[in-house]
Amino acid sequence: MDSSKSDRRFSWAGFEVVNSPNFNDRPDDSIIDCIVLHSTVQRTLQDTVTLFLDPASKVSSHFVVGKDGTVVQMVSLTKRAWHAGVSCLDGVDSVNDYSIGIEMTNMNDGVDPYPDKQYLAVAEIIRRCRKSYDIPDRRIVSHAKIALPQGRKNDPLGFDFDKLKKLLAK
Ligand SMILES: [Zn+2]
Repeated sequence: MDSSKSDRRFSWAGFEVVNSPNFNDRPDDSIIDCIVLHSTVQRTLQDTVTLFLDPASKVSSHFVVGKDGTVVQMVSLTKRAWHAGVSCLDGVDSVNDYSIGIEMTNMNDGVDPYPDKQYLAVAEIIRRCRKSYDIPDRRIVSHAKIALPQGRKNDPLGFDFDKLKKLLAK
C-alpha cells in the first residue's frame, strides 16, 4: 500500500506543505505587505526542499515553485521565513519581518528559462496571498532590489516582472 499519499498535507491555499524548521516569529507589529521573489540556484525543486529542511542551512522561504508549476509551502505565512537576509525596502529594514518569500527553481545564470507554468504558479500564489493581505504590485520585488549592501544579490536574474504583473491584472 502506498502510504505516502495519505501522509501528504495541504495548506490553507491547497498547496502541498513540507514544514521547514527554519523560521521564527514575526515582530508583533509587522504588517505583511510585500513579496520577495528569488531564484534558488539549484536544479530541482526537491534540492531546495531538502536544503530548507536542514536546520544547519538556516534558510527557508514560504513557498518554493518548481519549473513545472508545482508549489510547496514550507513556512506558514504568519511566521517569519529566512530568505532575504540583510535587506531594506522603502526605508524599512529586515524585509523578512513583513514579507512573503517565494523561491523559484532556476539557476540564476540569466539563461535558464522560467517556464510559463512557473509564472502562472507564482501569480496564483500571489492571488491567494492577496485574499489575506494587502500587497500592491509595486511591493512585489526582487531579492536584488532589497538586499544590502546593494549588489549582494542579483536574483531572480532573467525573471520578467512585467509579465508577472500582466498575469496578475487578468
Ligand atoms: Zn534570493
